[in-house]
Amino acid sequence: MKYWIVTFGCAANEADSERIAALYRSRGYTKARSIKSADDVVINTCMIREKAENRVYGLVHNLSLEKSHGRKVKVVVTGCMVGMAAREKTGKMLSLLAKKMPSVDEFLPIEEVGFDTAPIRSDKKHAWVPISNGCNNFCTFCVVPFTRGREISRPYEDVLNECRDLLSKKYTHITLVGQNVNSYGADLVLGPDNVHVLRDAGKNFFPSEKAAERDIRLFTVGGNGIKPTYVKHLGRLRIPTLFPQLLTDICLLPGLVQLDFISSNPWDFSDDLIEVIAKNSKISRHIHLPVQSGDTALLRKMNRWYTREEYLALIHKLRDNIPGVTISTDIIVGFCGETKEQFDNTVDLVIKVGFTKAYVAMYSDRPITAAHKVYTDDVPHREKKRRWKIIEELINKTNLRAGTYQ
Ligand code: SF4
Repeated sequence: MKYWIVTFGCAANEADSERIAALYRSRGYTKARSIKSADDVVINTCMIREKAENRVYGLVHNLSLEKSHGRKVKVVVTGCMVGMAAREKTGKMLSLLAKKMPSVDEFLPIEEVGFDTAPIRSDKKHAWVPISNGCNNFCTFCVVPFTRGREISRPYEDVLNECRDLLSKKYTHITLVGQNVNSYGADLVLGPDNVHVLRDAGKNFFPSEKAAERDIRLFTVGGNGIKPTYVKHLGRLRIPTLFPQLLTDICLLPGLVQLDFISSNPWDFSDDLIEVIAKNSKISRHIHLPVQSGDTALLRKMNRWYTREEYLALIHKLRDNIPGVTISTDIIVGFCGETKEQFDNTVDLVIKVGFTKAYVAMYSDRPITAAHKVYTDDVPHREKKRRWKIIEELINKTNLRAGTYQ
């Protein structure tokens, strides 16, 4: 029996597909030469934009035509589309999905795949290592907190062991993957329920910064206590994270040449994290730091917890402390109500920072998100395209590379 996996979306989906491949191998399957010769086709889906979702429907439709012409193939759909449907308690969303894609034989929630079998890596030197899944941030445009659920960190020692094992097998480059890597471990330190309170209560979880410092609970790994880093922003202590400590521990493992991570959030990028990167030359000098917009009012509307000035100050700090650091980003143009002046602020920020690369997206209205419920997707498509082209050309087509931020 042979399998074939089609992966849409981000690095997290790539990493999940490697675990799905391992699941198939453990059942005695081998990889098909192409989708045409597979007995099982697994489609790992993405919902971040409507276009990505439509590509899934297109592929399922083509496979159903082949089935109707006599091909025997099992179609399995997994990833974000299934994640969101499976999380909806009434089961209505799952039925709707089944109705939209009647030729699908199985909807597989990714949580059922687990971490028990070592992933089948697509590369011999470089490996993706998931450290967390899900997100607690609820940016108003984003479906991830609904498709992947609340952030759950993998146990610290499991991550270290996976890295150790990879390095013993001559892997040299590791990329740590999560939706929000720099909040890694908050749930391990406080317990998931407390993290929710911390995020949702809108008030200080800790009575004061001093009290938090005093009450800091050491996190125990292999009999040793680790002191979490407390990230502060918008005037309150936000979360305890173990990410800087995890990076430090991985850098100590023999055989590592380069350590990378994706994706990090500007508001959880602590001074401790900058210091750890600066100290460890094995950590990549390229950082992906999604800004999404260069306008503070729009950032608030997006529920992104930093201002334009804070983002620029962070870039400044990174450049001051990590010589040669380069920055890439994600930008959304044409978000609900984005005025020409607000867009100009993004253009101005882009020029000031000098990103080396950007994933530029025209805003795509996604069901279930807060933006879909509360705002109007009112920037005309033609205008979105015009703005997309300007940013795309500024960052990805011209040579702003040197970084002109002062
Ligand atoms: S931080 Fe925001 S954009 Fe990133 S996954 Fe979480 S909700 Fe989505």
